[in-house]
Amino acid sequence: MITIHKPKLRKRGGEIIVTVDFDMGGETKNLWYSFPNKYEKFLIVEQLDAFIIGLLFLGLKTGNDIKLNAPLSARLYYSLNHYLIDALCLVNSNYKRIKVIPSKLSSLNLNIGKTSGTGLSCGIDSFATYFDHKDEKSPYLIDYFTFFNVGSHGDKGGSKAREIFHKRIKNVSEFAEKVGREVITVDSNLSEILQMKFQETYNLRTISCALLMQKLFKNYYYSSGTRFDHFSFNNEEIADLDMLIIPNLSTESTSFFVSALKYSRIGRTELITEFPETYAHLDVCTHPFEGRDFINCSECYKCQRTMLTLELLGKLEFYSEIFDLEKFRKNKKKYMGWLLSKKKKLTLDRELIELIKERNEIDSKVYFYMIKHILYRHKLKLKKIFSN
Ligand SMILES: [Zn+2]
Repeated sequence: MITIHKPKLRKRGGEIIVTVDFDMGGETKNLWYSFPNKYEKFLIVEQLDAFIIGLLFLGLKTGNDIKLNAPLSARLYYSLNHYLIDALCLVNSNYKRIKVIPSKLSSLNLNIGKTSGTGLSCGIDSFATYFDHKDEKSPYLIDYFTFFNVGSHGDKGGSKAREIFHKRIKNVSEFAEKVGREVITVDSNLSEILQMKFQETYNLRTISCALLMQKLFKNYYYSSGTRFDHFSFNNEEIADLDMLIIPNLSTESTSFFVSALKYSRIGRTELITEFPETYAHLDVCTHPFEGRDFINCSECYKCQRTMLTLELLGKLEFYSEIFDLEKFRKNKKKYMGWLLSKKKKLTLDRELIELIKERNEIDSKVYFYMIKHILYRHKLKLKKIFSN
């Protein structure tokens, strides 16, 4: 059994920290989230919604039921019991079906801010969410960006992830300033506590932070890399399940949406190129920015995929400030060969290959690299067989 105690507020310098103690296996641990002081009045300490969602994976992984010593949103409790826990157990057979035992349910609407927010990484998906909502009226217009340290800067947290988080804030803040929005930064030790792969757990980590701000956000948009027709129960691409999971995390105070579901990755890329505000800030790189000339390394698979898409759309030159175009041109055919040779093609890969074929971009050099990659893989396989 995991027992989560009542949330408390604590001040530290310019920060306000929401924290809970929880007991598990005879040990008491502490989970915390820190916010800039000015958001104190919007933080929820009346209910344990954020903490049950943050720690749910810990319960599912270890098979411990979760008991709450403070109220829980009645709507969230209903969703947990009827949809969320079953869906997560269905997609991952290692999870155990657990019980959530609240001390009391609450049907109060605590929202006072009547605003909308979304996470901003300055990647394709978060930009697409922002620009897709630019003509909305309150409370659907995006007033705030959020930037969380709950795993996207390093699965298991720690000082390295925290350092990357602080470095990435700079680009995010500069973009936010350009479009006249505030960024709410939230640090947390959730990653250190979960010790799980970010790729398998990112959706609940993100929403747990947003649930602490239910008083501020009437609506919160979650950018997922997926389109309506990608929906599936697939353990290897759990993003394809987001359109079921995310809305079911809504409470009486805040509604959660998976945004930009109508666009494919190519469609999103095309959408954001219409906005010059993105030209100096697009950040898709898997490698943290460290004293490079360009925000994006221009070598990792995400950089190469984005650069190739932009080039095929005729928009790559707009992004010459943030990508090393020379490096891209040098490696382009090699990358295309690798992409075509991939054995397990993700949805995003298939979409890009379709665009490459449409534009007749495959020549003998691309085929050469494709065959080279396939042969190399066979060589590795043979080596493995003979070494056994
Ligand atoms: Zn990169």
